Amino acid sequence: MTAHDPFLATRRQFALPDGVIYLDGNSLGPLSHAARARVARAVEAEWGGMLIRGWNEANWIDLPRTVGDKIARLVGAPAGSVVAGDSTSMNLYKVLTAALAMAGERTVILSDSGNFPTDLYVAETAAAALGRGHALRIVAPEAVAEAIDARVAVLMLTEVDYRTGRRHDMAALTRRAHDAGALTIWDLAHSAGALPIDLTAAGADFAVGCGYKYLNGGPGAPAFLYVRPDLAERVSPAPGGWMGHAAPFAFETGYRPAAGVERMLVGTPPILSMSALDAALDIWDGIAMETVRQRSIALSERFIAEVEARCPALALASPRDPAARGSQVSFRFAEGYAAMQALIADGVIGDFRAPDIMRFGFAPLYVGEEDVVTAAERLERVLGEERWRQPQFRTRAKVT
Ligand SMILES: *Cc1c(COP(=O)(O)O)cnc(C)c1O
Repeated sequence: MTAHDPFLATRRQFALPDGVIYLDGNSLGPLSHAARARVARAVEAEWGGMLIRGWNEANWIDLPRTVGDKIARLVGAPAGSVVAGDSTSMNLYKVLTAALAMAGERTVILSDSGNFPTDLYVAETAAAALGRGHALRIVAPEAVAEAIDARVAVLMLTEVDYRTGRRHDMAALTRRAHDAGALTIWDLAHSAGALPIDLTAAGADFAVGCGYKYLNGGPGAPAFLYVRPDLAERVSPAPGGWMGHAAPFAFETGYRPAAGVERMLVGTPPILSMSALDAALDIWDGIAMETVRQRSIALSERFIAEVEARCPALALASPRDPAARGSQVSFRFAEGYAAMQALIADGVIGDFRAPDIMRFGFAPLYVGEEDVVTAAERLERVLGEERWRQPQFRTRAKVT
């Protein structure tokens, strides 16, 4: 790291426990000092002191929009086109049903087998609930482009594969979908805060993403949702709720959508979680996503080189070309679950995804090159000593 390294300053903003190398920010970003202070203030001074006046005096009511605007900057979307709230699964349901309502007679929701299961479950069950003959079609990630045809209503993809880190070409696939008359939904759960995204340039119609991964919003943080500005006025939300009504405090009996993407809001936002996410997002001020990407690639390349030199039993499951990866690196190992537990016991936190993937995320805001080398050294030790054979590492917990 050089004296002008912007990540020296960002690293100091996180409250990571001593002795822990954290390579799991792709699953749950760490606590920041700012988020901790903000939640304390939201609890004591706002909730405790202001009581219900907090909605106006602490601007709670505006948080879905102000947080949305901070995220918009990170995903290449204009201010006013992103709102924060609900979970990624719920936001996907909302944009998918909105997209299907716009797609006329077409019935196919096209996705790929590398997509995160909740996305596929949402699509399968939304199609069944609508009862209009929609069907989810799942193809291999490499076969997506060829499968886009005139029956496709919506192309619904996650840009970066949660298991392997393989990255789709968002701009090219969106263009292809549009050429075939289909709408697109992009899940940015493993992209937002990990790599540069340009929703506007890609022409994406809808996008959703996660607040608790690379955006460091805390466990169960609100997710986000984007609607292309020129589509937003035509979108019919379901469910439509009072927070997405044109006049929530007029208490009308009928639903009238708010202007723009705000109509996608549904119920009362979780202010404590939203406050944590809001504060965590300020860490990105003055940080260019291109700089994050360069560092993320440098860290990932170094990790792959170190692990391949030290751990011959592991097989790289991620694309070798950094341009084809997100910000994570995965290795296959039959005893991956137990090996990861042993590594965590040795102070390096990554995670495991069935059936055999050991997953490591690289978040340059708080992970440096020396961490990557130490992590590879410890992984070598875990494997060399076959610590994964120890019984305490072999019992699967509820959450992997
Ligand atoms: C993490 C993740 C989710 C999580 O959805 P929640 O509703 O927040 O639990 C959804 N989709 C993808 C692609 C993810 O990676």
